[in-house]
Parts: sequence; C-alpha cells; structure tokens
Amino acid sequence: AQPAALVTALFHLGEMVTATQSVNDETLQLLGAEIDWDIQVVSPEDEDRELLETFDLTFGDEGDEEDWEARPPVVTVMGHVDHGKTKLLDALRNTNVVAREAGGITQHIGAYQIVTELEDNERPITFIDTPGHESFTAMRARGAKVTDIVVLVVAADDGVMPQTVEALNHAQAAEVPIVVAVNKIDKEGANPAKIRQQLTEYGLVAEEYGGDTMFVDVSATQRLGLDELLTAILLTADASLDLRANTQQDPQGVVIEGKLDKGRGPVATVLVQRGTLRQGDSIVAGDAYGRVRSLLDEHGNKLKEALPARPVQVVGLTSVPRAGDTFLVVEEDRVARQIADRRQARIRNAQNASMRKRISLEDLDAALKENRQLNLIIKGDNSGTVEALEEALMKIEVSDDISLRVIHRGVGGITKSDIDLALADDVIVLGFNVRAEGQATELANREGVDVRYYSVIYQAIEEIEAALKGMLKPEY
Ligand code: GDP
Repeated sequence: AQPAALVTALFHLGEMVTATQSVNDETLQLLGAEIDWDIQVVSPEDEDRELLETFDLTFGDEGDEEDWEARPPVVTVMGHVDHGKTKLLDALRNTNVVAREAGGITQHIGAYQIVTELEDNERPITFIDTPGHESFTAMRARGAKVTDIVVLVVAADDGVMPQTVEALNHAQAAEVPIVVAVNKIDKEGANPAKIRQQLTEYGLVAEEYGGDTMFVDVSATQRLGLDELLTAILLTADASLDLRANTQQDPQGVVIEGKLDKGRGPVATVLVQRGTLRQGDSIVAGDAYGRVRSLLDEHGNKLKEALPARPVQVVGLTSVPRAGDTFLVVEEDRVARQIADRRQARIRNAQNASMRKRISLEDLDAALKENRQLNLIIKGDNSGTVEALEEALMKIEVSDDISLRVIHRGVGGITKSDIDLALADDVIVLGFNVRAEGQATELANREGVDVRYYSVIYQAIEEIEAALKGMLKPEY
C-alpha cells in the first residue's frame, strides 16, 4: 500500500500520523481491519522465543521449586541527576567486608556484589553499577527483568525533581519495590522530612508515617546511614520478595554491559539469573557466541563458577553483545553459533526493510521538514560511554513535532553494516573514540552518509543541538 493511503486510512480511524512516523501495535491492527488485511504483530521477544524453541530451548526458570536456593537481591540505583547516585554506589562498594579483608581494588564492570556484615550475618547484595533510569528502561524494553529492588536517591537539599518522578514511575510500572535513600543529609538546608512529605504524593509513604516504604537518611560523601540502607534493602527483599533460583539448570541471564578490550577481545559483564555459569561453557549472548574462556569478578579475580545474581565478566565471545541481551548456555558450540547466526540475520533483515534517502547535519532542514525525525547511530569504545552519550543526546530539547531517535548503538568501530543501516534509514552516524573500518568509510563516502567522530561528549551534544536549532529557526 502507498504510505499516503495508509495515512488516510489511519486518519479515518482518528489517528493523526505522518508517513514516516511509527505507529503502535494496536493502531496497526486497527489499520489492518480497516483495509481488510490481517496484520499480525510479532514482537522481537516472540520471534526469539520461537527461534529458541526450534532448538528445544526456553529462556526461563526450570525444574522443581524445591531444588531452588536463596539468591542475593539485585539492586538498581535511580534518581535525579546530581542527587548522588554515583557517589552512593561508590560508597556502598566500599562497605564490602570481604573485599576489605582481601584488600581488593574494585574495577568498574557494570555491576558488583558486596557481602554485608550486619548483626554478624554475612549476606551478599548485587548492585547494578550503571545508574540512571535509561539503562533500567532500556533493559526492560528489551524484555530483560534484572532488578529486584530500586534504591531511589533523593537529595535532601533539593527535593523531588522531574527525574525522581520518572524513576519512581518506571519502578512502579515494573512493580519493583522501592527503598528511598534521602541523600546529602550532611548539607546545610537538608530537609529529609520534606522529602518524605513530597513523596507521599506519589504513593511512597514512609513507614514512620504509617506507609510501607522504607526511607533511609544517608550521606554518600560522609558515609552516613550506609548500614541502615543495606539493612533496609535486605528487609525489603525478605518482606516482599521470594528470591530463589535453580542453581542446577542450564545457566541463563542478562548482559549488563559489553566492551571491546584491546588485549582480551570482546568482554561482556553478565548477570547470572539461574543455573551456574562455568568456565568452558558454550554460550550465546544476543548475537554473539563463544566458549567461556575465563570468568572474572569485579576485583579481577578468576572464578571457576558464577551462581545466580553474580555479575561476572565473560571472556571468550566472538563479538560484543549489547546491554539487555539475554544469554544462554547450550550443549554444543554448534548450537550457540546457529542461534547467533539466526539472530544476526534477523537484525540485517530489519535493517534492510526500508530503503530511503540519506541526510546530513548540513541539510537537516529539508530532510526534517519531511520526516520530522532525526535518526542516529552511536558507536563507541565501551557501552558506558555509548549509553552516556545516548542519555545526554536524549536530553536535548527539541520541539514537539521533531524527534531524535537512536536506532542503533553498539561497541566497536563503525562497520559496513552500520553504514548499510544508515543508508536504509536517514541516519547520522556518531563515532565516539572509534573510527570507521576501511570498507565502511568507502561505502559512507560513496553513498554520502554523514559520519562524525567525537572524543568529548559535549562536542557531540553541541553539534547535534546546533543542527537542530538551525533547523528550528523560524522560516522567513
Ligand atoms: P549523580 O548524577 O546522581 O550520579 O550524582 P553524583 O554522585 O555525581 O553526585 C553529584 C554531586 O553531589 C557530586 O559533586 C557529589 O560530590 C555530591 N554529593 C553526592 N552525595 C553527597 C552527599 O551525601 N553529601 C554531599 N555534601 N554531597 C554529595
């Protein structure tokens, strides 16, 4: 069907869309009925489930619940920018009794596990070390349920802010219990009572006010209230969550972050969700596969095995998987490879699905008049910077009728397949601390794809912002 005809049909259904805008599944189905087509919406998760079924595999819990063992809670820290998420994660990292004894230096691998020692009871807790609701929602959007408990950080001298509300909305939508950390109580003008007051409006009523949410006053920099916060996390886990996993089934879990390491090749931090991951396992993570050559914890120690809720670095994959990708261990290398191949093929098909013309930042004007959307591909040297850049770009204020969309992001150099994707979909490609491979450069030059390189985030932001602003100038 012609786009114009579809737009008209949609208009009759009461939907105002433009030809290049995407519509939701429900609208698509209504549209199908209107033009007498049977439209089936297949979600990527359904497609993947079908793919795994052809190999007699399922992603999920298996086995007799009686065999399950208790596992540590997995915690994500969320909250408004500058309210102290990073500082709090750093402070909590240093409460690890085991690491302190071993004198281990922790490295950033995207997640870490600490062992608490409260009332002479040693209990582990896992923290996802990439704060922010963007990574939380990105994972959730990809079907990965990682977080058991959200710690919502609110600065006592600042109060509830827009991202505080966003974060708690996301947590509530995912039905994840919230523990509120009222941070910066050391600061002059800190008013922890006011935070409790403000949050009642959002359904978070403190226990001391008769509600069921635990609020803990902390100072990440002065290291105040940390034990109380850890206790609150464990109490919340014990009170409302039944955290157990089968340690005996085939190991499965989620990729927390991935990067290309100069010496070791692709390295992925994964969170084991069930089963016991071991060195030598055949693994498929997203569209990457391989043999687990080594397992490393956040102190760089080699592990023989990783139990549920353990974040661990996996070395031995053939390529870098994306955050939110699920991983499975399979019987044979061959199966891992076949699953990975099929997933790669699917990604390529999706990329080739639409062929449209190219734009560049310079001629955004005309292109956006038509599309009202600027598509970006972000490639970078590690998933942390890629996420940070995406997060920052998404904060650029654009007018209501123009949208900025990241259609693909990844770790590593800009490849030919990135440029292929850019050709298909009016895209500007951003390389952060990475360059384009030879073939990719050639193709980009030939086809006029706008590829830009940055090594400082704010420069990327400034350029995109300026381009959008230029376009947003009033027309004379
Ligand atoms: P994020 O954006 O939420 O990750 O916030 P950061 O952890 O980067 O903290 C933002 C700023 O607040 C930094 O300058 C921190 O030093 C400061 N900060 C964080 N926690 C505390 C605290 O407990 N007390 C004080 N006085 N400052 C804090």
